[in-house]
Amino acid sequence: MKISTLFQQKKALFSFEIFPPKPTADLGGIAATVERLAALAPDYISVTCSAGGSGNSRTQEIAAMVKRAGIEPLAHVTCLHSDRDSLRRTLDGLAEAGIENVLALRGDRIEGREESREFAHASDLVRFIHENGYPFDVAAACYPEGHPESRDLLSDIRNLKIKVDAGVSHLNTQLFFDNEDFFRFRERAALAGIDVPVQAGVMPLVKKNHVDRIISLSGAKIPAKISRMIARFYEKPEALAEAGVAYAIDQMIDLLSAGAQGVHVYVMNNAAVAERIAASVLPVIRGINGE
Ligand code: FAD
Repeated sequence: MKISTLFQQKKALFSFEIFPPKPTADLGGIAATVERLAALAPDYISVTCSAGGSGNSRTQEIAAMVKRAGIEPLAHVTCLHSDRDSLRRTLDGLAEAGIENVLALRGDRIEGREESREFAHASDLVRFIHENGYPFDVAAACYPEGHPESRDLLSDIRNLKIKVDAGVSHLNTQLFFDNEDFFRFRERAALAGIDVPVQAGVMPLVKKNHVDRIISLSGAKIPAKISRMIARFYEKPEALAEAGVAYAIDQMIDLLSAGAQGVHVYVMNNAAVAERIAASVLPVIRGINGE
């Protein structure tokens, strides 16, 4: 099913993001994770891909696994280090696997790797997908705190408008920890005439390596409440996991209370965390949707 159809049927969606295992890794672990996530009946599960394009076959494989588990997959596709032929192969493969939804991304720069002359921005990929007649619903990324490379928030939102106008049916945000950033972003987007649904991306900080890696990679601003949590529980794994899940649930309930059209949970392949979050957030989503 197309995710745009789900947005027509529901006021708020609930979804997870997972990443594929390394090309040589066994599929047993991810298969068990997908099964546990599918049992929670999210609206869809998105599957990341490597910016270099090398992991794209695994993205397709895991997206197909999600589909077999009875959940709609959203397959990520990056373009910055790809050419038209390799993108056609990726998109043909996804279409043949019965995937109906893709998240079109530029991807992060890989040092030393040649950049595409044809695909400088995600909007180029969105256009390419539609111009070549692929039947996908195309989603894209957005940044409540602004993309790290953008000059300012205004130029970032203008560029987002170009991307959405190229044929994007919904947006998923970068993770953020301060909901006020999301609320301000939503206002800027509305003023710019961006009227597609925006799902808020939330990452539960449950492991200290996530704390270090994710915060530096995403560039997300750290509110005082999170700094205190990290400082207090950094060396206490169980306490950090509990505190991180509690913060994420609180953040999602506030987003949904303020009318967010859904939450997309960066679960980092951790089914136990997804189950804890679903137990608290799904009843709220069902209430919003009148189910
Ligand atoms: P773009 O939309 O192209 O924007 C990138 C920058 O270019 C921005 O500063 C923007 O303002 C500017 N820009 C855009 N269009 C124009 C224009 N026409 N003219 C001038 N400037 C312009 N990375 C991966 O490698 N694999 C993944 O699976 C993955 N999944 C992600 C999922 C989500 C929900 C998010 C938020 C990010 C994900 N990323 C992933 C990271 C993403 O690839 C990077 O953040 C990347 O730097 C930007 O990608 P984009 O698609 O947002 O780029």
